[in-house]
Amino acid sequence: MTVITKSPKKAAEFIKKGGIVAFPTETVYGLGANVFDEKAVGKIFEAKQRPNDNPLIAHVGTLEQIKLLTDKITPNAQKFIDAFFPAALTLVLPKSEKVPLIATANLDTIGVRMPKHELARKFLKYCRTPVVAPSANLSGKPSPTKWEAVFEDLDGRIDCILQGEATEIGLESTVVDCTSEIPLILRSGAVTLEDLRKIVPETKIYQVKKDEIIRSPGLKHRHYSPRAKVVLISPESRVQSPKSKAFIGLREIEGDFLSVKICHSAEEYAHEVFAFFRECDAQGIEEIYCEIVAEKGIGMALMDRLKRAAE
Ligand code: AMP
Ligand code: MG
Repeated sequence: MTVITKSPKKAAEFIKKGGIVAFPTETVYGLGANVFDEKAVGKIFEAKQRPNDNPLIAHVGTLEQIKLLTDKITPNAQKFIDAFFPAALTLVLPKSEKVPLIATANLDTIGVRMPKHELARKFLKYCRTPVVAPSANLSGKPSPTKWEAVFEDLDGRIDCILQGEATEIGLESTVVDCTSEIPLILRSGAVTLEDLRKIVPETKIYQVKKDEIIRSPGLKHRHYSPRAKVVLISPESRVQSPKSKAFIGLREIEGDFLSVKICHSAEEYAHEVFAFFRECDAQGIEEIYCEIVAEKGIGMALMDRLKRAAE
Protein backbone atom coordinates (compact mmCIF):
# COMPACT_ATOMS: atom_id res chain seq x y z
CA MET A 1 0.00 0.00 0.00
CA THR A 2 1.20 3.49 -0.75
CA VAL A 3 0.94 5.90 2.19
CA ILE A 4 -0.07 9.46 1.30
CA THR A 5 1.09 12.13 3.75
CA LYS A 6 1.66 15.86 4.08
CA SER A 7 4.37 15.30 6.71
CA PRO A 8 7.95 15.54 5.39
CA LYS A 9 9.14 13.89 8.60
CA LYS A 10 6.88 10.88 8.16
CA ALA A 11 7.87 10.59 4.46
CA ALA A 12 11.57 10.69 5.40
CA GLU A 13 11.08 7.73 7.78
CA PHE A 14 10.39 5.55 4.74
CA ILE A 15 13.69 6.62 3.13
CA LYS A 16 15.57 5.78 6.33
CA LYS A 17 14.00 2.31 6.31
CA GLY A 18 15.11 1.63 2.72
CA GLY A 19 11.85 2.60 1.05
CA ILE A 20 11.03 4.79 -1.96
CA VAL A 21 9.08 8.04 -1.66
CA ALA A 22 7.62 10.46 -4.20
CA PHE A 23 8.02 14.12 -3.23
CA PRO A 24 7.29 17.51 -4.81
CA THR A 25 10.02 19.84 -6.08
CA GLU A 26 9.78 23.09 -8.05
CA THR A 27 10.33 21.21 -11.34
CA VAL A 28 8.28 17.97 -11.21
CA TYR A 29 7.60 15.31 -8.55
CA GLY A 30 10.60 13.05 -7.91
CA LEU A 31 10.76 9.42 -6.73
CA GLY A 32 13.48 9.20 -4.11
CA ALA A 33 15.71 6.64 -2.36
CA ASN A 34 18.81 6.87 -0.17
CA VAL A 35 21.67 7.16 -2.69
CA PHE A 36 23.89 4.85 -0.63
CA ASP A 37 21.30 2.05 -0.32
CA GLU A 38 21.68 -0.05 -3.47
CA LYS A 39 18.62 -2.13 -2.76
CA ALA A 40 16.43 0.94 -2.32
CA VAL A 41 17.83 2.52 -5.50
CA GLY A 42 17.01 -0.71 -7.36
CA LYS A 43 13.39 -0.34 -6.26
CA ILE A 44 13.15 2.98 -8.13
CA PHE A 45 14.09 1.33 -11.43
CA GLU A 46 11.61 -1.46 -10.76
CA ALA A 47 8.70 0.80 -9.77
CA LYS A 48 9.15 3.13 -12.75
CA GLN A 49 10.11 0.35 -15.18
CA ARG A 50 13.07 2.57 -15.96
CA PRO A 51 15.80 1.24 -18.27
CA ASN A 52 18.89 0.55 -16.14
CA ASP A 53 21.15 2.67 -18.37
CA ASN A 54 19.27 5.83 -17.40
CA PRO A 55 21.12 7.61 -14.54
CA LEU A 56 19.44 9.25 -11.54
CA ILE A 57 19.88 12.75 -10.17
CA ALA A 58 21.01 13.05 -6.53
CA HIS A 59 19.14 15.67 -4.50
CA VAL A 60 20.67 17.38 -1.48
CA GLY A 61 19.06 19.40 1.30
CA THR A 62 22.25 21.28 2.19
CA LEU A 63 25.35 22.41 0.26
CA GLU A 64 27.57 20.35 2.60
CA GLN A 65 25.96 17.12 1.37
CA ILE A 66 27.41 17.69 -2.13
CA LYS A 67 30.76 16.52 -0.76
CA LEU A 68 29.23 13.12 0.03
CA LEU A 69 28.59 12.64 -3.70
CA THR A 70 31.76 13.98 -5.32
CA ASP A 71 35.41 14.55 -4.36
CA LYS A 72 35.85 17.08 -7.13
CA ILE A 73 33.69 20.17 -7.41
CA THR A 74 35.21 21.67 -10.56
CA PRO A 75 35.79 25.48 -10.67
CA ASN A 76 32.88 26.07 -13.08
CA ALA A 77 30.59 23.88 -10.98
CA GLN A 78 31.52 25.93 -7.90
CA LYS A 79 30.60 29.13 -9.79
CA PHE A 80 27.20 27.71 -10.75
CA ILE A 81 26.61 26.50 -7.18
CA ASP A 82 27.41 29.95 -5.80
CA ALA A 83 25.26 31.70 -8.38
CA PHE A 84 22.20 29.44 -8.51
CA PHE A 85 21.82 26.75 -5.83
CA PRO A 86 19.16 26.00 -4.65
CA ALA A 87 17.65 25.85 -8.15
CA ALA A 88 16.15 23.84 -11.00
CA LEU A 89 19.71 23.09 -12.04
CA THR A 90 21.55 19.74 -12.04
CA LEU A 91 25.35 19.71 -12.24
CA VAL A 92 27.10 16.60 -13.54
CA LEU A 93 30.36 15.97 -11.62
CA PRO A 94 32.83 13.10 -11.19
CA LYS A 95 31.22 10.71 -8.72
CA SER A 96 32.71 9.71 -5.39
CA GLU A 97 33.69 6.05 -5.02
CA LYS A 98 31.14 5.76 -2.24
CA VAL A 99 28.22 6.34 -4.63
CA PRO A 100 27.00 2.95 -5.90
CA LEU A 101 27.08 2.46 -9.66
CA ILE A 102 23.41 1.54 -9.79
CA ALA A 103 22.59 5.20 -8.96
CA THR A 104 24.51 6.51 -11.95
CA ALA A 105 23.74 3.71 -14.42
CA ASN A 106 27.43 2.70 -14.37
CA LEU A 107 28.68 6.19 -15.24
CA ASP A 108 31.65 7.62 -13.32
CA THR A 109 29.75 10.90 -12.98
CA ILE A 110 26.76 11.95 -10.90
CA GLY A 111 24.09 14.63 -11.40
CA VAL A 112 23.67 16.81 -8.30
CA ARG A 113 20.83 19.19 -7.54
CA MET A 114 19.66 21.18 -4.54
CA PRO A 115 15.95 21.93 -5.02
CA LYS A 116 14.53 25.28 -3.94
CA HIS A 117 11.09 23.90 -3.02
CA GLU A 118 10.51 24.38 0.70
CA LEU A 119 8.75 21.08 1.37
CA ALA A 120 11.36 19.18 -0.67
CA ARG A 121 14.15 20.79 1.36
CA LYS A 122 12.44 19.92 4.65
CA PHE A 123 11.99 16.33 3.50
CA LEU A 124 15.62 16.07 2.35
CA LYS A 125 16.87 17.45 5.66
CA TYR A 126 14.88 14.86 7.59
CA CYS A 127 16.33 12.14 5.32
CA ARG A 128 19.85 13.13 6.46
CA THR A 129 21.33 11.72 3.26
CA PRO A 130 21.36 12.71 -0.42
CA VAL A 131 18.36 11.20 -2.18
CA VAL A 132 18.51 9.99 -5.78
CA ALA A 133 15.29 10.81 -7.57
CA PRO A 134 14.19 10.61 -11.17
CA SER A 135 10.75 11.92 -12.10
CA ALA A 136 7.98 10.00 -10.30
CA ASN A 137 6.18 8.68 -13.39
CA LEU A 138 6.18 5.37 -15.20
CA SER A 139 9.02 5.47 -17.72
CA GLY A 140 8.06 7.11 -20.98
CA LYS A 141 5.00 8.91 -19.60
CA PRO A 142 4.82 12.67 -19.04
CA SER A 143 6.54 13.73 -15.81
CA PRO A 144 4.13 14.29 -12.90
CA THR A 145 3.42 17.89 -11.93
CA LYS A 146 0.68 17.00 -9.41
CA TRP A 147 0.61 14.33 -6.69
CA GLU A 148 -2.48 12.85 -8.37
CA ALA A 149 -0.37 12.06 -11.44
CA VAL A 150 2.12 10.19 -9.24
CA PHE A 151 -0.79 8.28 -7.71
CA GLU A 152 -2.14 7.44 -11.17
CA ASP A 153 1.18 5.89 -12.25
CA LEU A 154 2.67 4.48 -9.06
CA ASP A 155 -0.01 3.72 -6.45
CA GLY A 156 0.82 0.35 -4.88
CA ARG A 157 4.31 0.35 -6.42
CA ILE A 158 5.98 2.81 -4.01
CA ASP A 159 6.00 3.25 -0.23
CA CYS A 160 4.85 6.82 0.16
CA ILE A 161 3.75 10.01 -1.60
CA LEU A 162 4.61 13.30 0.11
CA GLN A 163 1.64 15.41 -0.87
CA GLY A 164 2.28 18.99 -2.00
CA GLU A 165 0.86 21.54 -4.42
CA ALA A 166 1.19 21.38 -8.20
CA THR A 167 4.83 22.03 -9.10
CA GLU A 168 5.76 25.60 -9.98
CA ILE A 169 7.86 25.15 -13.14
CA GLY A 170 6.39 21.96 -14.60
CA LEU A 171 9.45 20.89 -16.63
CA GLU A 172 12.51 18.94 -15.43
CA SER A 173 15.74 20.61 -14.30
CA THR A 174 18.45 21.97 -16.59
CA VAL A 175 21.31 19.42 -16.68
CA VAL A 176 24.83 20.82 -17.16
CA ASP A 177 27.93 18.65 -17.53
CA CYS A 178 30.68 20.36 -15.51
CA THR A 179 33.32 17.64 -15.83
CA SER A 180 35.34 19.41 -18.54
CA GLU A 181 36.59 22.97 -19.18
CA ILE A 182 33.52 24.03 -21.14
CA PRO A 183 30.18 23.47 -19.40
CA LEU A 184 27.71 21.62 -21.65
CA ILE A 185 23.94 21.81 -21.33
CA LEU A 186 22.75 18.20 -21.70
CA ARG A 187 19.10 19.02 -21.09
CA SER A 188 17.45 22.44 -21.14
CA GLY A 189 15.25 23.65 -18.30
CA ALA A 190 14.15 26.73 -16.38
CA VAL A 191 17.75 27.84 -15.78
CA THR A 192 18.52 29.00 -19.31
CA LEU A 193 21.61 29.18 -21.52
CA GLU A 194 21.48 32.97 -21.09
CA ASP A 195 21.44 32.60 -17.27
CA LEU A 196 24.40 30.17 -17.30
CA ARG A 197 26.45 32.30 -19.71
CA LYS A 198 26.22 35.24 -17.31
CA ILE A 199 28.28 33.11 -14.91
CA VAL A 200 30.45 31.09 -17.35
CA PRO A 201 30.34 32.73 -20.80
CA GLU A 202 31.80 29.64 -22.58
CA THR A 203 28.78 27.47 -21.68
CA LYS A 204 27.42 25.58 -24.71
CA ILE A 205 24.51 23.38 -25.64
CA TYR A 206 25.59 19.78 -26.18
CA GLN A 207 24.90 18.58 -29.72
CA VAL A 208 25.05 14.84 -30.33
CA LYS A 209 27.43 14.11 -33.18
CA LYS A 210 26.66 11.20 -35.44
CA ASP A 211 28.05 7.86 -34.16
CA GLU A 212 29.15 9.41 -30.87
CA ILE A 213 28.30 7.69 -27.58
CA ILE A 214 25.54 9.83 -26.16
CA ARG A 215 26.72 11.80 -23.11
CA SER A 216 23.46 11.78 -21.28
CA PRO A 217 22.03 8.29 -21.69
CA GLY A 218 18.60 9.41 -20.58
CA LEU A 219 18.29 11.57 -23.67
CA LYS A 220 18.06 8.62 -25.99
CA HIS A 221 14.97 7.20 -24.30
CA ARG A 222 11.46 8.06 -25.36
CA HIS A 223 10.16 10.66 -22.96
CA TYR A 224 7.28 12.82 -21.94
CA SER A 225 4.79 11.16 -24.24
CA PRO A 226 1.08 11.00 -23.75
CA ARG A 227 -0.73 8.06 -25.35
CA ALA A 228 -2.29 10.51 -27.80
CA LYS A 229 -0.35 11.57 -30.87
CA VAL A 230 1.34 14.96 -30.41
CA VAL A 231 1.41 17.30 -33.43
CA LEU A 232 3.35 20.57 -33.41
CA ILE A 233 1.81 23.50 -35.29
CA SER A 234 3.01 27.00 -36.08
CA PRO A 235 1.13 29.99 -34.64
CA GLU A 236 -0.53 30.67 -38.02
CA SER A 237 -1.73 27.23 -39.07
CA ARG A 238 -5.28 25.90 -38.82
CA VAL A 239 -6.41 22.43 -37.73
CA GLN A 240 -8.73 20.27 -39.85
CA SER A 241 -11.75 18.66 -38.15
CA PRO A 242 -10.83 19.61 -34.57
CA LYS A 243 -13.89 17.94 -33.01
CA SER A 244 -12.02 14.91 -31.64
CA LYS A 245 -8.77 16.75 -30.96
CA ALA A 246 -7.15 18.93 -28.32
CA PHE A 247 -5.09 22.13 -28.50
CA ILE A 248 -2.61 23.78 -26.16
CA GLY A 249 -0.81 27.02 -26.98
CA LEU A 250 -0.50 30.75 -26.57
CA ARG A 251 -3.14 32.00 -28.98
CA GLU A 252 -6.90 31.76 -29.27
CA ILE A 253 -7.77 29.06 -31.80
CA GLU A 254 -10.80 28.65 -34.04
CA GLY A 255 -12.72 25.40 -34.13
CA ASP A 256 -14.75 23.10 -31.97
CA PHE A 257 -11.96 21.20 -30.17
CA LEU A 258 -12.73 18.57 -27.53
CA SER A 259 -10.32 20.30 -25.17
CA VAL A 260 -8.45 23.62 -25.38
CA LYS A 261 -5.87 25.19 -23.08
CA ILE A 262 -4.83 28.75 -23.86
CA CYS A 263 -1.77 29.87 -21.89
CA HIS A 264 -0.79 33.49 -21.37
CA SER A 265 2.97 33.00 -21.41
CA ALA A 266 5.57 30.37 -22.24
CA GLU A 267 6.01 29.91 -18.48
CA GLU A 268 2.33 29.07 -18.06
CA TYR A 269 2.49 26.74 -21.09
CA ALA A 270 5.47 24.89 -19.51
CA HIS A 271 3.60 24.70 -16.22
CA GLU A 272 0.47 23.22 -17.81
CA VAL A 273 1.69 20.98 -20.63
CA PHE A 274 2.33 17.66 -18.85
CA ALA A 275 -0.91 17.84 -16.84
CA PHE A 276 -2.77 18.66 -20.06
CA PHE A 277 -1.27 15.62 -21.79
CA ARG A 278 -2.51 13.42 -18.94
CA GLU A 279 -5.99 14.99 -18.97
CA CYS A 280 -6.23 14.38 -22.73
CA ASP A 281 -5.26 10.72 -22.25
CA ALA A 282 -7.88 10.34 -19.52
CA GLN A 283 -10.50 11.71 -21.95
CA GLY A 284 -9.38 9.32 -24.68
CA ILE A 285 -8.34 12.14 -27.04
CA GLU A 286 -6.41 10.82 -30.05
CA GLU A 287 -4.46 13.89 -31.17
CA ILE A 288 -3.06 16.87 -29.28
CA TYR A 289 -2.03 19.94 -31.27
CA CYS A 290 0.70 21.96 -29.57
CA GLU A 291 1.61 25.45 -30.70
CA ILE A 292 5.30 26.02 -31.40
CA VAL A 293 6.90 28.78 -29.30
CA ALA A 294 10.11 30.83 -29.70
CA GLU A 295 13.17 28.88 -28.46
CA LYS A 296 14.33 31.42 -25.92
CA GLY A 297 14.10 31.48 -22.12
CA ILE A 298 11.86 28.64 -20.89
CA GLY A 299 10.68 28.29 -24.52
CA MET A 300 13.88 26.36 -25.27
CA ALA A 301 13.07 23.67 -22.67
CA LEU A 302 9.40 23.65 -23.61
CA MET A 303 10.19 23.08 -27.31
CA ASP A 304 12.67 20.33 -26.37
CA ARG A 305 9.93 18.44 -24.46
CA LEU A 306 7.29 19.06 -27.15
CA LYS A 307 9.61 17.78 -29.91
CA ARG A 308 10.38 14.63 -27.92
CA ALA A 309 6.68 14.05 -27.23
CA ALA A 310 5.99 14.42 -30.96
CA GLU A 311 8.74 12.01 -32.07
P1 AMP B 1 14.78 12.35 -14.77
O1 AMP B 1 15.08 12.79 -13.39
O2 AMP B 1 13.77 11.25 -14.85
O3 AMP B 1 14.41 13.51 -15.61
O4 AMP B 1 16.12 11.74 -15.36
C1 AMP B 1 17.37 12.29 -15.10
C2 AMP B 1 18.08 12.63 -16.35
O5 AMP B 1 19.21 13.43 -16.02
C3 AMP B 1 18.66 11.44 -17.08
O6 AMP B 1 17.74 10.87 -17.98
C4 AMP B 1 19.87 12.01 -17.80
O7 AMP B 1 19.51 12.53 -19.06
C5 AMP B 1 20.32 13.14 -16.86
N1 AMP B 1 21.46 12.69 -16.03
C6 AMP B 1 21.40 12.26 -14.74
N2 AMP B 1 22.62 11.91 -14.29
C7 AMP B 1 23.48 12.09 -15.31
C8 AMP B 1 24.89 11.90 -15.49
N3 AMP B 1 25.66 11.42 -14.52
N4 AMP B 1 25.42 12.19 -16.70
C9 AMP B 1 24.66 12.68 -17.68
N5 AMP B 1 23.33 12.88 -17.59
C10 AMP B 1 22.73 12.60 -16.43
MG1 MG C 1 11.99 11.33 -16.11
